[in-house]
Amino acid sequence: MNQAFKELSSFLSLPQKIIITTHRDPDADALGSSLGWASYLIKKGHHVTVISPTEYTANLRWLSGIENVLVYEKAGDQVKCKRKMEEATLICCLDFSALSRLKDLGKVVQEAAAPKMMIDHHLEPEQFAKWMFWDTTAAATAQLVYALIKELEDNKPANVIFDIPMAECLYAGIMTDTGSFRHGNVTPEVHLAVADLMLTGFDSSRVHRLIYDNAPLSRLQFLGYVLSQKLVVLPEYRTAYMVLTESELQRFNSSTGETEGIVNYGLQVENVVMSAMFIERKGEVKISFRSVGTFSVRDLASSYFNGGGHKNASGGRSEQTVNETVATFLSILPLYQEALLNVD
Ligand code: 5GP
Ligand code: MN
Repeated sequence: MNQAFKELSSFLSLPQKIIITTHRDPDADALGSSLGWASYLIKKGHHVTVISPTEYTANLRWLSGIENVLVYEKAGDQVKCKRKMEEATLICCLDFSALSRLKDLGKVVQEAAAPKMMIDHHLEPEQFAKWMFWDTTAAATAQLVYALIKELEDNKPANVIFDIPMAECLYAGIMTDTGSFRHGNVTPEVHLAVADLMLTGFDSSRVHRLIYDNAPLSRLQFLGYVLSQKLVVLPEYRTAYMVLTESELQRFNSSTGETEGIVNYGLQVENVVMSAMFIERKGEVKISFRSVGTFSVRDLASSYFNGGGHKNASGGRSEQTVNETVATFLSILPLYQEALLNVD
């Protein structure tokens, strides 16, 4: 048993005041893993507060416990978050490993006196946590939460440890971070974890519907516009990209959630192995990258776009104009051409 696990498990033998936080614009893995971990800790008698740096999308509103999540950027929640942070005896950092991913909340976490623990699967973590449960071979943070809880509970079967709402939270994270079990991060451990969680009897098909088949009509109409008007394919680089300006987003009345996942469509084009999406929003450009196989978008995101993430799914930001950002992207493609052409 490793040292971090031993220390954590003895620390949790007394009731603690615990904060759980996750990255900005949290997705189903960020919030699903946080809420699954929160439910477990609450069952164990701890006092737990989950804080999201920013608002989350509407298709996550059904996750169990989400009604108690504080949103740091909401004026009404910020004072409460700061007070909870001061009182905390443990801060759990889930699904991120760089404090900049917390936006303004990053500084508050950095300055908080409480020890921190990290549960994460991103590459090259910063060293701010006393206890690290960090594994880049895990497909999702929810998978790591599952494994940690199993170990804390002496590997009892999941239906003894987890209830249905907890299992749904963890399943939602694993399902979305694996693209519904189709990305290169799917391993036997992923399916074994899911098989075990299904012993609780939750309805996995319902979770798929709640996450994916739960969009406002405007999202589908927006998707239609993007795919028909904005998708550019560069066959010589096996690359697809899309650029969305602030005025287009306003025209479709698009909220943050409505652009989520659209970048993946670029990979459906034959021969394409990298897809990028540039979104102009609130004075900055948010970039999403996706790739397949051996081509890593992480290097590109961290070297040129202040970002990072995983080998096949990364993101970044730019303070240049959207046109300048795209020009930078197009100018570096020749550097990656050989690697792009070599993907199986
Ligand atoms: P998405 O394109 O869905 O926003 O992000 C895909 C992945 O890239 C995320 O899971 C996250 O790991 C990473 N990512 C996105 N934005 C950033 C960023 O600004 N900085 C870093 N370091 N990683 C990011
Ligand atoms: Mn994740």
